[in-house]
Amino acid sequence: MINTSVISEELRLKSVDLINQRVLITNFNNSTQKNDFTLPPNCEGYGRIRHFKRGITNEKWIANPLPIDPVSKALSLDSADLIKAQVFQLASCNWRCWYCFVPYNLLSANPQYAGWLSAEEMIDFYMNLEERPKVIDLTGGQPDLAPEWVLWLIKELEIRNLADEVYLWSDDNLSNDYFFRYLTEADRDYISKYKNYSRVCCFKGFNEESFEFNTSASRDLFKSQFYHFERLFSIGLDLYCYTTFTSPNVKGIGRDIAFFMDELQKIHENLPLRTIPLEVQIFSTVSPRIKSIHEEAIKVQYTAMEKWREELQRRFSSTMLEKNIADVPMRRIN
Ligand code: SF4
Repeated sequence: MINTSVISEELRLKSVDLINQRVLITNFNNSTQKNDFTLPPNCEGYGRIRHFKRGITNEKWIANPLPIDPVSKALSLDSADLIKAQVFQLASCNWRCWYCFVPYNLLSANPQYAGWLSAEEMIDFYMNLEERPKVIDLTGGQPDLAPEWVLWLIKELEIRNLADEVYLWSDDNLSNDYFFRYLTEADRDYISKYKNYSRVCCFKGFNEESFEFNTSASRDLFKSQFYHFERLFSIGLDLYCYTTFTSPNVKGIGRDIAFFMDELQKIHENLPLRTIPLEVQIFSTVSPRIKSIHEEAIKVQYTAMEKWREELQRRFSSTMLEKNIADVPMRRIN
């Protein structure tokens, strides 16, 4: 079982250089992760192009409009089913989800697979691309082990006059309070007022059992995810959610999905409409980790998805269900 608070502090120390304002970024050149890429790594190995697709791979699942719709709305782009993003990946994560498409050796701040980059160096790499995507995606790993990263990137985008033409998108696994612990109120205010930035927060499961099974962290942290999300929401960040529904147990699943949606709606009644369940699929990195219990868990996610759909139908009007995710009213401005 992962001791999340201890491992988070250890990884933070190895992943952020406050004096020089740098973070430890994965270099894909010697990684097996690059075997799953459509295009080779770029930025001397420190970056990659990600194709975010809306497409449905399976009729049992739903489309994924993230980050396509928020970006298209903010930058006044035509509606699309695919958007490219320039990805930089923090070389650390405090959890070990069995379905993670990142090899575990790229999640432990291992200098063999990573190097230190400042925001200035990342934007230099970005500016040197022949074809620059409209989105920069700060992913991981858990980017919020270094919450300064988003702040430094925003400031660099402003310095380069890119704030109106580039959309910044970042992930958060809702595992810690570092955004509040290590940033000042002024820093948080700066980020929340920056118009072309959104964060997608990932709920790992729909109950304590599925959370623990998915992350290898203590089941007590399942409810902490809602707490961390609510704090981010309270300062006016533009937020979206992912969730995964893999679970070792199908018993009581209808009740537990309803409870999960109740908890989301305690934060905001429309939050389920800004939440996209992700279909867990087996990439080449993941397949060696798969045992029979994981195969069963993959089947359970489809039952959970049916229950999720039923709950959405029960709680929202067809007008609300058909809304573009970027138009679902939710943002709170204090
Ligand atoms: S929290 Fe995200 S990056 Fe970390 S192991 Fe899970 S899926 Fe991978």
